[in-house]
Amino acid sequence: MKKILVIEDQKSMALLLKQTIERHFKLDVLVAYSLQETRDYLAKHQDITLALSDLNLPDAPHGESISLLREAHITTVVLTASLDDSLRQRIMQERVADFIVKDGPAAINYLVRVLDLLLSNDQREIWLANLSDPLSRKLIGLLSIHRFKIRVFDQDSVLLKTLKRSFPSLLIVGDKNTEQRWFQQLSAVRSHFEFYQLPILACIEGEQGTSLALKYMKYGATDYIVAPFGADELYARVNQSIDLQRTYQEIQLLSQTDSLTGLHNRRYFIEQGEKHYQAWLKKGVFCLLVDIDFFKKINDQYGHPKGDDAIRFIATTIKQIFEGFVVARFGGEEFIVVGAYSSKQVIAELAERFRLGVEHASQEKVGVAMTVSSGLAFDAPRFDKLIAQADQQLYRAKSGGRNQLCQEDDEAR
Ligand code: GH3
Ligand code: MG
Ligand code: MG
Repeated sequence: MKKILVIEDQKSMALLLKQTIERHFKLDVLVAYSLQETRDYLAKHQDITLALSDLNLPDAPHGESISLLREAHITTVVLTASLDDSLRQRIMQERVADFIVKDGPAAINYLVRVLDLLLSNDQREIWLANLSDPLSRKLIGLLSIHRFKIRVFDQDSVLLKTLKRSFPSLLIVGDKNTEQRWFQQLSAVRSHFEFYQLPILACIEGEQGTSLALKYMKYGATDYIVAPFGADELYARVNQSIDLQRTYQEIQLLSQTDSLTGLHNRRYFIEQGEKHYQAWLKKGVFCLLVDIDFFKKINDQYGHPKGDDAIRFIATTIKQIFEGFVVARFGGEEFIVVGAYSSKQVIAELAERFRLGVEHASQEKVGVAMTVSSGLAFDAPRFDKLIAQADQQLYRAKSGGRNQLCQEDDEAR
């Protein structure tokens, strides 16, 4: 478990911080009440990820704990009772990640948001491009305090090529090159990514300042910052961009997920199918459609909540067995799988294992004996045709007595 060191001499405040952190995060919280204790902890624990430190302690009246943490290269958030401009500047010069004014519940909310970002930033990439060397170095220094993974692109062409394969949480672009061609390339990038998907922060240092920044906004940047800027201004803008992207991703995930089972929903299934169908077809593509037998009776006899349990059980089972394929809840008690195959027999065996798994485990796992019928189809020229063929086979399985798998090839026999 990651460790956070809380340094705060007021016992009640230290307790509040510890409890708040433990409630929101899976973190081992160490509490030091003095500079001496901070030293002891740093000597004993080499794996502290973050620190939250009071600015002044009885045995460290001039922010000595902050300097100590800086020397130990620990990302630090400073707590202070009050804040004026000169103090703010002094704190930021100590290369801290952020500061929090202890002035009530808003401070605690802010703390949670800041820690949430700082703890997950090592999973996020920020890409830097088209920046002068000094500015690039400054950004690398500041962003690594926030634990981001940073990648610098010296050549625009490499950046554009890499963006075809993956994209970062944030792209920061500078004004080293202001040729029109660069702006056009940027707007081409923007046409591939939604604003919320790929935030772009323009970082301007030249004399053209705001006018160049506004030009950047027209060509696809989502925000800008004009040098000289303070660390806290940069952090505020970066966090804003990351928050936007994160919210977008959460909404996107919700829109693709079935809330009862956590499986992909029908919309996502169709999207993926349409996107990958031709590629799958080159190899060979299958579709399995599954429907629970006499499900209405289960609802009638055991009630709707039990019916929901049954649906969740089927979801878990099918997801396990068809790991690596696109598995979705297609409708109420219908499930669907699609993907490329290398052997029809292997797919049929998985489908049969699934059918038997449901038949044998449902009573024990859900308290309801149930069975499923499935239809399996292969290699139709179009995605919707393949689904229709799987549906025909499902119909055969139902009319043939249920609790069975039907596939196209056995029709010929
Ligand atoms: P068959 O063997 O022919 O498939 O019979 P069936 O009773 O399963 O028939 P059908 O597929 O028409 O029934 C689907 C039922 O699934 C009707 C609907 O009330 C129930 N259902 C759909 N969605 C949910 C759900 O989210 N939860 C529960 N508990 N029931 C659902
Ligand atoms: Mg049905
Ligand atoms: Mg049914």
